[in-house]
Amino acid sequence: MYNRRLAGQTFCDRVEELAVTAPMNLREEGRLRVLQALYDSAGTSRPELGRVTGLSRATVSSLVADMIAAGLVCEDNGLAEPENRSMGRPAQPLSLNRSAAYAVGADIGHTHVRVALCDLYGSPVWDQVEMQEVDGAPHETLDLAADLIERALRECFVPRERVLGLGADIASPVRSDGSLGADGIMPGWAGIRPGAELERRTGLAAQLINDANAGALAEHRYGAGRDTDDMVYVRLSAGIGAGIVAAGRLLLGTGGLAGEIGHLHVVQAGPACRCGNRGCLETVASPVAIARLLQDSWGQPITPDDLPRLLAGNSAGALRVLEDAGEAIGRALAGLVTLFNPQMIVIGGDLAATGERLAGPIRHTIARHALPSAVPQVTIVTGELGSSAEVRGAASRVLAHAPRSLAIMG
Ligand SMILES: [Zn+2]
Repeated sequence: MYNRRLAGQTFCDRVEELAVTAPMNLREEGRLRVLQALYDSAGTSRPELGRVTGLSRATVSSLVADMIAAGLVCEDNGLAEPENRSMGRPAQPLSLNRSAAYAVGADIGHTHVRVALCDLYGSPVWDQVEMQEVDGAPHETLDLAADLIERALRECFVPRERVLGLGADIASPVRSDGSLGADGIMPGWAGIRPGAELERRTGLAAQLINDANAGALAEHRYGAGRDTDDMVYVRLSAGIGAGIVAAGRLLLGTGGLAGEIGHLHVVQAGPACRCGNRGCLETVASPVAIARLLQDSWGQPITPDDLPRLLAGNSAGALRVLEDAGEAIGRALAGLVTLFNPQMIVIGGDLAATGERLAGPIRHTIARHALPSAVPQVTIVTGELGSSAEVRGAASRVLAHAPRSLAIMG
């Protein structure tokens, strides 16, 4: 169920990288190899583990026996696949014990905070969202996130020592040093380092990324993009952003700011954007921009929350504005298709719920403007994870280091 293609970075690359970050003895490195293989692909048998890890049959058996006794690995129920049978006995599939450790995800949008406690394979065992005015209230927002995390651990009876860490994402550009590139986007957060603040409030080691990057990680590992290593996730919510996965890795750029397609220039001398430029994609294609256009035209208050009702009612004006937004987004994505030659574009965020009404114009515009030979190679789909993509992706950053953390635990 959790199989994923291992192109791009090889198994040995990943094990080597993890082993270098924390020097290990031979037994720990063996444990790391087995745990990494089971993290990559649940339901792997001992003979398959031997093939994937390069360890001898005896070593695999000994390591697995120790880790089953320690509660890190478990034998799956059910029959093994026929091809796994050897010498008349089925090869028992093995998986990580999904409740051996957890990671917390915290998704901070413009108007909500969502917290999920995820097991080792990234499935939420506790998931709650609370509405909160975020942009002008950083400390209240961070306090709320910390309260939700506390509740999650308490209600699931998970002690802190079983939590590998906290992955947080936020609706703002995030620099590699953990500061926000939020001037004008979330003005109340200037000078605040949300990761450090969350660490102080929760006692958990925290990592912070941009929300579209978090969505990309989740759709790549658990969702629509799980069988591809070259994909773009585009998040269409209050803001517009993209997360780019190239050769299996999230592309962050030199300072962590890659993928901010909402701030591509698309209209000469267009409306002023909150980033400080003019004519950005966000100013013509975000739900806020769509609602503003309709409000100006109809002379009555329209908010982004009204859009689903207007679109469901087949309001001609709303459909036309959505189609134009799809074309503007499609032109920006056509540039990404030409530059990165992705196999898949995954549409996420609030506007993804409009389905083909938005995806259709996006697909059509990409076909018209991207490099013609790259067009047949890209599939454009809506995300599979819906509004849980960001919080699960944030937690997945912590879980990516789970094999190393568990290998040196005991
Ligand atoms: Zn902008």
